[in-house]
Amino acid sequence: MTNQTSSASFSTPEAFICLRCGNCCHGEGGIVLNDSDVHRLCNHLDLDLASFAAVYMESVNGKNRLRTNEQGWCIFFEQGCAVHPAKPAVCQAWPFFRGNMVDANSWLMAQDACPGINNETGHQEFVAQGNSYLQDLDLEPSTATSPNALNRST
Ligand code: SF4
Ligand code: SF4
Repeated sequence: MTNQTSSASFSTPEAFICLRCGNCCHGEGGIVLNDSDVHRLCNHLDLDLASFAAVYMESVNGKNRLRTNEQGWCIFFEQGCAVHPAKPAVCQAWPFFRGNMVDANSWLMAQDACPGINNETGHQEFVAQGNSYLQDLDLEPSTATSPNALNRST
C-alpha cells in the first residue's frame, strides 16, 4: 500500500518494506479521505468532484471514504494501486498509524495483517523510522474530517 521507507537515512534495517501483498487494500470502509486526498484524486483522474464522488466515494458518518467493489477490494485495487501517485494519505502512512506508533501490542498485531513490517527492528525503531517517514510526507494537519488513524494529537 505505501512506499517503502527510505534506506538512505537509516543505518539499521528497514522497519517496514511494502511487499505489495495487497492485504491493506481489502476491507470495507477503511480508506477515509481528507480534503487534500479528494482534491488530489480528482486532479489525477481529471474529474470534477461530483463525477469523482458518484463513482469512487461514499460518505458515512460524516467521513468521506473510498468505495469497495463486490469482492471487498478498494475500488482502485487492480493487482496494485491504480492511483499510486495520488493515493490517499492513510495509504501513504500505513503501517505508521497512530495506534501502531503508540502501542507496541498494536504494532505486533499489525504484523499479522502486514507482512512488510519487520519484527526484528523492534517497536522503538519502528516508531523512530515512522516519525521520520511521516514528517517527510508532510501530511495535512488533522481536521474534523481527517482519518482518525493519522490524528496524532489524540
Ligand atoms: S499489507 Fe503491508 S506489505 Fe502488504 S501491500 Fe499493504 S503495506 Fe504492503
Ligand atoms: S487507494 Fe490504492 S493503496 Fe489505497 S487502498 Fe486503494 S488500492 Fe490500496
